Amino acid sequence: KAFFEENSIKVHIPEGKDIDITPLAGFQFDGFAKRLVKYCQSKFAKPTPIQACTWPLIMQKSDVCGIAKTGSGKTLAFALPYLSMSRLGQLEVFEQPCASPRFVAMAPTRELAMQIAEVCSDLGLYPVQCIYGGVPKHDQRQALTGTGVDMAICTPGRLQDLVDEESLDLSSVQYLVLDEADRMLDMGFIDVVKALIGKMPKAGKRQTCMFSATWPATVHALATKFLSEPVHVGIGSVD
Ligand code: ADP
Ligand code: MG
Repeated sequence: KAFFEENSIKVHIPEGKDIDITPLAGFQFDGFAKRLVKYCQSKFAKPTPIQACTWPLIMQKSDVCGIAKTGSGKTLAFALPYLSMSRLGQLEVFEQPCASPRFVAMAPTRELAMQIAEVCSDLGLYPVQCIYGGVPKHDQRQALTGTGVDMAICTPGRLQDLVDEESLDLSSVQYLVLDEADRMLDMGFIDVVKALIGKMPKAGKRQTCMFSATWPATVHALATKFLSEPVHVGIGSVD
């Protein structure tokens, strides 16, 4: 069992898993699109610890559990690898607008979903749709069928509604992120999240990352069920 501990960064690798866990020293990274590296360099001095540790793991296609407090830069930690891959043309380009996203991020609240969607819209090449409840479904449905969607940033309830009415199909999801997993569970989204994941390609055909500020047993159990040999990265005094 490999275990690495330094500066209150804890990385845990599943037994027998062969992966390079060296954190990035800067934004420069072979797999990243130049434009995104420049964007980060122009805005920030250096990667935050959660970014430095999780970027290489996600780029190596590993499932990851990232535990770090609020404000530690988790959005770019999970979004930048996907944005990079899509910018570099490493994904197939849709021939026509398609309501079958390759990237789905679930977040507990509309505000959080909107914050993630804003970052993705600023930096992405393909359509980003933010899907949340409390507003009529019409505009969201219209956008899905009109513009299509590559990155769907969702609250679980509304995502389920749109999937159930077949406005959105989850069979093309390659990269799933459960953001603020602890809060999603606290808010009672567990059954909805499980049902939605059941409609996606199976673990192994899909990369899954989970981000959370805390790591209670319920979040651990969710990770065990839906992530495949995840590497755990904990920043600060979480365990
Ligand atoms: P979290 O999801 O962990 O709560 P966010 O992703 O919302 O954190 O980021 C919090 C703030 O930190 C945002 O304003 C974001 O632009 C900023 N940020 C992201 N990456 C960095 C970085 N490498 N250095 C400094 N600030 C950053
Ligand atoms: Mg966040």
